[in-house]
Amino acid sequence: MNHNQTTEETQERATLYALGALSQHEARAFEVHLREGCPVCQAEISQYESVTGELGLAAPAVPPPAYLRELLVARLEREAAPPATAPAGASGTPLPTPVRAPSSVRLYLPWAVAACFAALFAFSYRSIRQIGQEIARQQERLVALQSEGEQLKTTLTQERMRVQQLDQVRSVLTSPGSRVVLLAGQGSAPSASGAVLWDTHRNRWLVTASLPPPPVGKAYQLWFITTAQAKISAGVIRTDVTGQSFTIIDVPSDVSKQVAAAAITLEPEGGSEQPTMPIYVLGRVG
Ligand SMILES: [Zn+2]
Repeated sequence: MNHNQTTEETQERATLYALGALSQHEARAFEVHLREGCPVCQAEISQYESVTGELGLAAPAVPPPAYLRELLVARLEREAAPPATAPAGASGTPLPTPVRAPSSVRLYLPWAVAACFAALFAFSYRSIRQIGQEIARQQERLVALQSEGEQLKTTLTQERMRVQQLDQVRSVLTSPGSRVVLLAGQGSAPSASGAVLWDTHRNRWLVTASLPPPPVGKAYQLWFITTAQAKISAGVIRTDVTGQSFTIIDVPSDVSKQVAAAAITLEPEGGSEQPTMPIYVLGRVG
């Protein structure tokens, strides 16, 4: 038979059922009652389901609180125990033992269970929140480390490249017969600069330059300028995003005999046959 309204009894039974504190027989009977569609008891149990659901979700490794039933049983027994001695009346005749309303136990029970639940839930909730915060912190750290790692990798690659370049520069500078040609910024880019390290032994140029980053579709081109003022392309030189360039160029032996200057111009991507743009840097081969 369905209940019409929430009572202490319905609250107590749903609570104990949710806690697994009903006897097997009681639990079966309650399940049958639920299946019969009592809206009151279903509402009661659904309240606990959300709590037990969250508890289950929150702490899957934590076993159900077995102590809870023991605690409840102990309290039930204590509450139900009749007073040891009945208080004596004024006349000395014993007063009739007050009949203990069963509802007093029921009144007490849902409160005790609710308190236990609240404590348990608060604990679990705090734990979940702490775990959640810890996870968030770890994730943040991981993201930071990853981006740090990416940056370090880039920096490391750049540093390795720089070390290799410096190593080559040093090897040219320390080899006998090497020459240095300084490239000075010209009218279109006065702050631009560069240098050519001429490895006369291997007849190659190590060209370093600091130029404005080239516009899209443009590229820098290096020129050998001969004593006869002929401009011979030494090839396109690449710059990084900041306009820094390090290029190694083999110098044709016939060119090396008549080169008087070196220049860098801005040209259409791919280079030009002859310089079309103003000179950015220029240096005399002394
Ligand atoms: Zn019911």
